[in-house]
Amino acid sequence: MARPRITLVVQNTIRLTDHLIRVRLGGPGFASFQPVAHTDAYVKLVFPAPDGETLRTYTVREIDSAAGEIAIDFVYHGAEGVAGPWAAAARPGDTIELMGPAGAYAPRPDADWHLLAGDESALPAIAAAIAALPADALGRVFVEIAGPADELALETPAGVELTWIHRGDAAPGELLTAAVRAEPWRDGQVQVFIHGEARAVMHELRPYIRKERGVPAEWAASISGYWRRGRTEEGFRQWKSDLAERERAAV
Ligand SMILES: Cc1cc2nc3c(=O)[nH]c(=O)nc-3n(C[C@H](O)[C@H](O)[C@H](O)COP(=O)(O)OP(=O)(O)OC[C@H]3O[C@@H](n4cnc5c(N)ncnc54)[C@H](O)[C@@H]3O)c2cc1C
Repeated sequence: MARPRITLVVQNTIRLTDHLIRVRLGGPGFASFQPVAHTDAYVKLVFPAPDGETLRTYTVREIDSAAGEIAIDFVYHGAEGVAGPWAAAARPGDTIELMGPAGAYAPRPDADWHLLAGDESALPAIAAAIAALPADALGRVFVEIAGPADELALETPAGVELTWIHRGDAAPGELLTAAVRAEPWRDGQVQVFIHGEARAVMHELRPYIRKERGVPAEWAASISGYWRRGRTEEGFRQWKSDLAERERAAV
């Protein structure tokens, strides 16, 4: 059965940083939006395409029930693509169809410490997770961004240290991987949330966390790519399914 769709109306847009655009969506369709209890809640946005339509996946950064609005933070990664350019051109009154939300992760209160890492695409989910941490939470957060102009003012609990990593000319995920690997490992049960460029996450960081550090799936289920360099989201879905096939065959 087709998933129900709702139509939301652009209320306003804000350039949060050099590469991050916040679009607030509301209107009568908000009444049908049913929040989920996950900090990585995401929706599928529906865009017209030459052969019908195409879907793009985005995190729900905030829900403002009083205003009847959700906020989505779009990475503007240049003129290529569908969703990034749409956000850059969006004006109040524009409409967009979406499906969802769904989600899988929220910080667990029984974790001894939290490790969160990602790039700009995961920053909305990381920011939502930080906002949900209790005041006495312990943890380490790494966010890889293009440069200083992409840093956001994010408040963390006193025991949670956040480091912005400036990518500069490095490949996406390269410096993030190095920073996570260089971080001294702590005692106690960690809960891990890592998302970003798919090759770096799936080929570098996931094996590091799951195999080298031995974090069981129950505590490290949320490690995956959010996009793949050189591929549209359709191409990335194919990459993911090819990788899953290879991993099944290797077992
Ligand atoms: C669960 C989930 C949640 C996500 N949440 C967010 C979110 O809140 N905000 C967000 O911006 N993205 C988020 N993403 C990532 C987003 O879905 C992809 O970046 C998507 O490919 C963007 O679509 P597009 O139409 O702009 O570009 P596409 O048409 O998909 O790609 C065009 C080109 O741009 C490149 N590209 C795509 N994304 C990026 C990027 N981030 N940086 C550099 N180059 C890129 C591609 O490799 C390709 O070459 C999320 C993904 C998932 C799976």
